[in-house]
Amino acid sequence: MNKKSALTLPEVVTMYADNHCHLHEYEDILEVLLRAKAANVEYIIGVSMDIPSFQKTTEIAKQYDTVIPAIGIHPWNASKCIQDTEKVREIIPYRGIMGEIGLDHHFIKNEDEWDPQLKVFKALLGIAEEKEASVIIHSKGAENETLNILESFNIKYVILHWYQGPENLLPRIIDNGYFMSFTPALHYSPKLQNFVKRIDTSRILTESDGPVAYRKKRGEPADVVDLVDKIAQLKSQDKVEIQRTVFNNFVEIFCAHA
Ligand SMILES: [Zn+2]
Repeated sequence: MNKKSALTLPEVVTMYADNHCHLHEYEDILEVLLRAKAANVEYIIGVSMDIPSFQKTTEIAKQYDTVIPAIGIHPWNASKCIQDTEKVREIIPYRGIMGEIGLDHHFIKNEDEWDPQLKVFKALLGIAEEKEASVIIHSKGAENETLNILESFNIKYVILHWYQGPENLLPRIIDNGYFMSFTPALHYSPKLQNFVKRIDTSRILTESDGPVAYRKKRGEPADVVDLVDKIAQLKSQDKVEIQRTVFNNFVEIFCAHA
């Protein structure tokens, strides 16, 4: 083998995953997904807010093989979608992905809506338990209540999406073996930076929660690449090691049994 051919080693592709993106909300979906592809974002979970957004995400997934749809009823839609939990049961496959589901007492201040949220959340977790589904959880302003309910179900893979709740709940989250998924807010939030330092990399995932904006810049799946770099920097660990572990976490949860 001469020197020249020794340089043409097979390329090792570095892969990333976005485990939480509202793909149905982008008008320029093609450009968003092309940028993700170019950045080696291999998989994107398209979470849904209700049945129609799940159907839209399913259509997107038929066209783009990097997209994996998740079915959910967001707590913001609980009171108007209370009848739809049975449809979720009919649609979700065995070992499917459920999200975005949970409780929200931060943006939803009207306490009349909290009871429907609770009913929908419990009904969906019952379905997830029965179908052995993974769950992607919203817990804004209701973190303690959310954990209480999650702990009453037997669900293998629980992903706390963009958890920003009290720090004193962290040991409980860790003991339960839940995954924490970080958004680009990690670049500027000292609270999230502290969480990353405290939780083992084997429980870390990355997400854009796009098209949510971070400091006025719209989030999209390609952003998870910089997130992995930031996690490596915060943990003072090798970038490649972090990238591999975080990607493998994603594969373990969402792909191994698909
Ligand atoms: Zn979301």
